[in-house]
Amino acid sequence: MKNIKIYNRILLVLILTGIVFLILFLFLAIIKNKQETLILEESKTQFDNEINSLIKLKSATLKQVAYDYTFWDDFVEKINSKDTAWYNNNITTILKSFRIDYVCVYDASFNMVHEAYSDEFISRNFITKDILVKLKEKKFLDYFQAADSGVIEISSASIHPDIDPTHTLTKASGYLFLAKLWNTDFINELSVLSSAKVEILNNTDSIVNQNKYSISTKQLLPDWNNRKSTQLVFTRTINFLNLYHNLSIIMMIIMFSSIISTWLILHFSIRKWINRPLKLVTGILKSENHTQIDELRQCQGEFKLIGNLFNEFIIQKEDLTKAKISAEESNKLKTAFLNNISHEIRTPLNGLLGFLSLLQDSELTKSEIKNFYAIINKCSDRLLNTINDIIEISQIQSGLVKLNISQTNFFIIIDELVTNYKPLAENKSLEFYIKNNISEKNKFINIDGNILKSILSKLIDNAIKYTKSGYIEIGISEKTGYLEFYVKDTGIGIPTDKHQLIFERFMQVDVSDTREFEGSGLGLCIVKAYEELLGGKIWLESSLEKGSTFYFTIPYNENKMETEQIPKFTLNKSKEKTSEKLKILIVEDDPTSELYISILLKNDNNEILVARSGIEAIEIYKLNSDINLILMDIKMHEMSGYDAAKKIRQLNKEVIIIAQSAYAFSSSKIKALEAGCNDYITKPIKKKLLLEMIDMYFNK
Ligand code: ADP
Repeated sequence: MKNIKIYNRILLVLILTGIVFLILFLFLAIIKNKQETLILEESKTQFDNEINSLIKLKSATLKQVAYDYTFWDDFVEKINSKDTAWYNNNITTILKSFRIDYVCVYDASFNMVHEAYSDEFISRNFITKDILVKLKEKKFLDYFQAADSGVIEISSASIHPDIDPTHTLTKASGYLFLAKLWNTDFINELSVLSSAKVEILNNTDSIVNQNKYSISTKQLLPDWNNRKSTQLVFTRTINFLNLYHNLSIIMMIIMFSSIISTWLILHFSIRKWINRPLKLVTGILKSENHTQIDELRQCQGEFKLIGNLFNEFIIQKEDLTKAKISAEESNKLKTAFLNNISHEIRTPLNGLLGFLSLLQDSELTKSEIKNFYAIINKCSDRLLNTINDIIEISQIQSGLVKLNISQTNFFIIIDELVTNYKPLAENKSLEFYIKNNISEKNKFINIDGNILKSILSKLIDNAIKYTKSGYIEIGISEKTGYLEFYVKDTGIGIPTDKHQLIFERFMQVDVSDTREFEGSGLGLCIVKAYEELLGGKIWLESSLEKGSTFYFTIPYNENKMETEQIPKFTLNKSKEKTSEKLKILIVEDDPTSELYISILLKNDNNEILVARSGIEAIEIYKLNSDINLILMDIKMHEMSGYDAAKKIRQLNKEVIIIAQSAYAFSSSKIKALEAGCNDYITKPIKKKLLLEMIDMYFNK
């Protein structure tokens, strides 16, 4: 029972209800039949009584007349006188007076002395001697006798004087017979009076009822010998019972069809409104079928809500699955990242540390030492590049990189790139071309020069890295509203199925352990992120072993755009120092970094002062107002480099302050310039870069 489906349970309830109704229906039918039988029986008893009374009433006259005329002295006297006139006046007149059909008188010796009859009465000699003997004995004799035209009712009595009304005190002087013919007219009259059909049958004839709603009663008509040979049968049809029966049948048919149609309607409604939606719910739970969900949502009432709920559930589930897949992917990426980064950090670190330890060997030749230094430099550059790439991509992805669009002479950028990369290409025996289709007069455009430099550097880096022979070509052309660049090489090429993939983080065409080219897999991802930031496009054409061409666009605005500008502390040229010797304050809490900078700058015979904190720097500056240059570390305890620079700038507007920090974010640079610094240099500080910067400010 527990496992029966809801629809089957409802069906069971419906069937049981149907059975209960059918039992009720049968019960009603039985009651109806019982009622009909009861009514029939009741009507029958009533009918019997009615007919008995009617027959008694009809026979009463004849008996009464026979009795009244037979204790009469005159009659006794006239029996033997044969006085015809008297008989005609007194006896024959009975016929008319009482509507009797026959009268006859016998004397004591059973001889007929008078006889009279109506016209319809044709029977004769129907009074036999036996009857007379019986009458002599009984004094009164009432009986019936069959006749051709019906039945004759006969009442007879012995004749006595006035003094003997009981006919027991005196001897009978004669016998009077009165007869009435129960002919068709009489029977019709009975029929009208009784509202029934009347028939005269032999005693042996059985009553045949054609109609089940008719009742019959019979009156047995005894002959003189008290043998009941004839019967009078009254049959009455009870019409109202017939009507009651027909009405009951109609009612029951209506009831039955109502039950069946209600049952069918309920069944189909439940199928449509409960069973079908329930089937859909079960189907959805099993297979999460979308078409079934849509069908369920078309249903009415609560099932519509359930359908909507399923829909939401499926959407949420799909979202969760997507989130899970993306979490798994990002997990994979994380692993790839760790593997790559670990490789990209450990490899140069290995070279760096390895060759540093080799340098300790005092027996090294000068050329070996030079070679080792070159290797150490290459390793540190590679390590720095990887760290820079990681910082750059995380800056872009956390939204820290803001566009700094300003009017830029992009010819300078191109020149810088040629200066930097041409030697690198030539080192690998590669030719390096620039195809610049922009005229000199259009060289100023509103773009973010740093980002353009970064994009081009990464693409040229790759072109050189992945090309063994041939050439590298950089092209620039102007389209409406944007510049289009390309970086073409004749390198190893990229298979078509990897054209999109290489722009993803850490994605490389060759991911084998034996891959030939080093790299973190971040370069193109950074390029793509910059393109998205600028609103430009990047795409490539490449075929294996033939080379690749990376195209990208840089949208620009003809008018000078209002963008975030880095405030730069302006240099008062009149106050520039031109002397050979500088008084320099190095503000640095890390002794190693301070020592490195001190050594770098001591070579020029500069005077070096050192402060270990921002507060100390202000103190020293107050005591040495002739300081020309301050190299200000940013991250220090007690007081940051920003605050110290602000304070010093309040004391002197002209002293050159160069912020130096391990923070690589452009926001740090902006903040430093806002605090009053003239420039910003990131750690690790490259000797060449620092000296160039100082040269720039002091015209050395
Ligand atoms: P990587 O540090 O590995 O160079 P990138 O993001 O710069 O990372 O490039 C992703 C991958 O795209 C590279 O590993 C390389 O397989 C492929 N690739 C990029 N540029 C070129 C090119 N010019 N020629 C051939 N393959 C290239």
